[in-house]
This record gives sequence, structure tokens and C-alpha cells, in this order.
Amino acid sequence: MTGALADRVAVVTGGASGIGAATVERFVAEGASVVIADLDGDRAHALAERLGERTTAVRVDVSVEDDVAMMIDEAVHRFGRLDVLFNNAGFGGALGPISETSVADFDLTFDVLVKSVYLGVKHAAPLLMDQGGGSIINTGSVAAHRGGWSPHLYAAAKAAVVHLTRSVALELGSAGVRCNAISPGFVATPLAYGRPDADTEQLAAMRDAAATDQPLGRVGEPDDLAAAALFLASDESVWITGQELVVDGGISAGPPWSTFPEAFRVTRPIRHHRPPGR
Ligand code: NAD
Repeated sequence: MTGALADRVAVVTGGASGIGAATVERFVAEGASVVIADLDGDRAHALAERLGERTTAVRVDVSVEDDVAMMIDEAVHRFGRLDVLFNNAGFGGALGPISETSVADFDLTFDVLVKSVYLGVKHAAPLLMDQGGGSIINTGSVAAHRGGWSPHLYAAAKAAVVHLTRSVALELGSAGVRCNAISPGFVATPLAYGRPDADTEQLAAMRDAAATDQPLGRVGEPDDLAAAALFLASDESVWITGQELVVDGGISAGPPWSTFPEAFRVTRPIRHHRPPGR
């Protein structure tokens, strides 16, 4: 087997759709064997069937400890080891004003987005440490850094994911285990559309509507994130840990140049105010 992940074994949560599914495909193309872990077992199995014998699918709820333990065991049972864990599954969480958000909404949002990452790290870390190395990648979001890009609890949960990543990296580093986060911007997936069953037409309309806000002129595609996950999974990033790789088409740097005030965009001679001799 050749490729950047030749003979490596990975687990990808949320691997049946969007960023996770694109990452599964990329990892397999680069030589890895992959456990596709998702709440949508049918979709996970369909993807595994299409990609062949170096994949296997498990239906898991990443907020349930027994499911996460089973998912890690499956990597060892089926492929003999674990090298990469991509804690990527997610959903939009609770919507609406904070005063109308129930404690049950809070618990569900944090269970799926934060507890899941804690559980994944908890169950993968001992194995990776025993093996002398490995890479854990957690999916954050640009919403971890700026208000207004997501509902309240999603933003708070993703901030927790990014900081848990840093903290855990410091513990695992001496055992050769790296832990990093990827924070996507606006990516054309069912999650961004707000419906798990969003079809290709709906995603195309969303791409068009959001393109003008993007400094690089288009929204992100799942493959853009899969490329970042491949980098953090592979030895190309072997001296990188505790970091957050923001993959957002530039949107967190600011608005596109075309929306700057005209005065900033038009070249004019500047007046020189510096006193002579200074
Ligand atoms: P997606 O809806 O295409 O995929 C999410 C997958 O997670 C689905 O297959 C879903 O079944 C699975 N999932 C949801 N809850 C689960 C659970 N409890 N247990 C197991 N699997 C579960 O969305 P996506 O955009 O590919 O999202 C992937 C990650 O990227 C998420 O963590 C999301 O928060 C993050 N993200 C996405 C965007 C974006 O614009 N799409 C931006 C920032 C961050």
C-alpha cells in the first residue's frame, strides 16, 4: 500500500456525510483502513460497501460512552491497531433565544458536540500511547471565535472543543500522541443547510447565496476539509500539536475586498505628513 497514510488505521466519526465522508474517501485513497462511525448506520454502511474492504461501518451515538468504546475496539478488532481518530460528528444544536433554551437542549448540544470529543480522546489515548504515537483531530468551528455565525450553544460547545484540544495535547505529547483541531468556515453540507436530508439542489442554492461573503469567492467543500484532516493525520504534521487549523476561505480574516469601502480600494497618491528631517 502506498500513500500518506499507507497501512494506517483511522476512525472517522460523522463519517457518513459531509466533511466526515470526504475525509473517509481521502484517507482510503491515501492507503488507510477506516472505521466509518455514524449515527446514520445505513448511510455509513452504504459508504463502506462502496469503498470496499479497507473500510467498515459502525452505528454509534458519539455521546454514549459504550458506543465510543465499541468504535475504538472495532478499529483494533477489524484492522489490528489505531493511528488516527477524527472526532468530527456534529449537529447544529439548540436554536433560539437563550431564555427559551431548555436544560435538555443544553445537555444534548454539549453531549453531541463536546462530550463526544472527550469520550473519543479518553478511549483512543491509552491505545495510541501504548503504540508510541498517533494523531487525534477534533472538529471545531470558526463559530468558536466569533459570535453571530451560529446558535449560542453551538458556539460555546465548539470553543470548548478547541480548548480541550490544546489541554489534552499537552498531556499526550510526551507519548508521541498529537492532538489538533480543524475549524471549518462555511462548508456546503447538510449541517450548514440545517437539514440532514438536504439534497444537491438545496446545497447548490446555498453555495450560490453564500459565495459573495467569502474572501476566496466560494464556500468550502467537504474536500477542502478532508485535505486539512489528511495533513494533520499524516507525518507531514509530525511536529504540530495543540493547534487549531482554521480552514475557512479567509472569512475569519474579515469580509471580502469587494465589500471594503471604496476609499480603501481606489489607489490615490497619499499626502506626506511627516515633518522634514524626521
Ligand atoms: P453533516 O451533517 O454533513 O455530517 C455530520 C454527520 O454527523 C452526519 O453523518 C450525522 O449523522 C453525524 N452525527 C450527528 N450526530 C451524531 C451522533 N450523536 N453520533 C454519531 N454521529 C452523529 O455535517 P458536516 O458539516 O460535515 O459536519 C461535520 C463537523 O463539521 C461537525 O462537527 C460540524 O459541527 C463541523 N462544522 C461544520 C461546518 C459547516 O459549515 N458545514 C462549519 C463548522 C464546523
